[in-house]
Amino acid sequence: MAPAVPVLEARPTLPIVALKERFPVRRAFCIGRNYAAHAIEMGGDPEKDPPFFFMKPAEAMLAVEPGVTTDLPYPPGTKDFHFEAELVVALHAGGKNIAEADAHRHVYGLAVGLDMTRRDLQGEAKKLGRPWEIGKAGDFSGPVGAITPFELGAMTRDMAVQLTVDGVVKQKATLAHMIWSIPQQIAILSQYFELRPGDLIFTGTPEGVGAVTRGQTMHVEIDRLTSITLKVV
Ligand code: MN
Repeated sequence: MAPAVPVLEARPTLPIVALKERFPVRRAFCIGRNYAAHAIEMGGDPEKDPPFFFMKPAEAMLAVEPGVTTDLPYPPGTKDFHFEAELVVALHAGGKNIAEADAHRHVYGLAVGLDMTRRDLQGEAKKLGRPWEIGKAGDFSGPVGAITPFELGAMTRDMAVQLTVDGVVKQKATLAHMIWSIPQQIAILSQYFELRPGDLIFTGTPEGVGAVTRGQTMHVEIDRLTSITLKVV
């Protein structure tokens, strides 16, 4: 007799500001080195390097409910668990070869997120020319807060991203420092993947990334969006 066919859990969802409905997550694309000063701290050249992308599975998302300090389990296999504060874009429409000028039509809203990284494992993978999943795609590696429905046209370059650890500011920059804009990221990604409703894009982190340990609390805020607070446990 054949073993029982597995029954999958429901798709992960994220809260939406001021709505009871939840945003279903299909998958998450992440752009690497999208702020010049962070590209330099990671050994890249922001003038020359084209954008590159990696992914996290939907199941790696950790929904952070508004106003709730959320436990973030310290992952196994690392001694260097890094935070990367990021603006997250949520798509409600998909497509292939999306023009930069049309990209805004695909955006449902924006949220505050973290691209949590086992930096030591990522570094080893880079050195050996291996894939990045073990460093980037782990369980709970994508905490994301409530999505604010947002017109991209209303986004301003002076919106600030800030991350504190136990109240000490570690990352602080404005969106003006992004190398590749959100429309450019959507246009480029859609040349390689058919984007789908429910896809997320983690848009890169500013300089100042660093490690956290058990017991520390991270607070991430982006102007006009709902902030997130996570305690590493
Ligand atoms: Mn990142």
